[in-house]
Amino acid sequence: MSDCLFCKIVAKEFNAEIVYETGRTLAFRDIKPQAPTHVLVIPKDHHADAATLARADDGLADEVLKAAHAVAVQEGVAEGGYRIVFNTGADAGQTVFHVHAHVLGGRDLTWPPG
Ligand code: IMP
Repeated sequence: MSDCLFCKIVAKEFNAEIVYETGRTLAFRDIKPQAPTHVLVIPKDHHADAATLARADDGLADEVLKAAHAVAVQEGVAEGGYRIVFNTGADAGQTVFHVHAHVLGGRDLTWPPG
């Protein structure tokens, strides 16, 4: 989508600190990190949110989840524990409507989230 920020990051038209990439996924550091590790994992194809990604039915949701875990391993937070968050919809705090998994770790993560 031409007006989508994360599509522009995929197209390398907008800069981001990319930490992991596969054929169909991309991971880059969040610009406003909420934890020592805060990486966003996205499918390169545009899907607005986790609901549309889940309906894609081509294994892409699985690839995003696997990429999120690979990022946690690479960042060194997989053993201690980390969180994968999909804010889905405006009422849940989603602000960028290209589905993304937040991978958070490197500090004690409280529950429930705010
Ligand atoms: P959401 O609120 O779940 O949609 O998360 C959107 C996330 O994108 C927020 O954590 C923002 O800090 C992050 N973000 C917005 N613009 C950029 C950017 O240009 N690079 C990296 N992260 C961004």
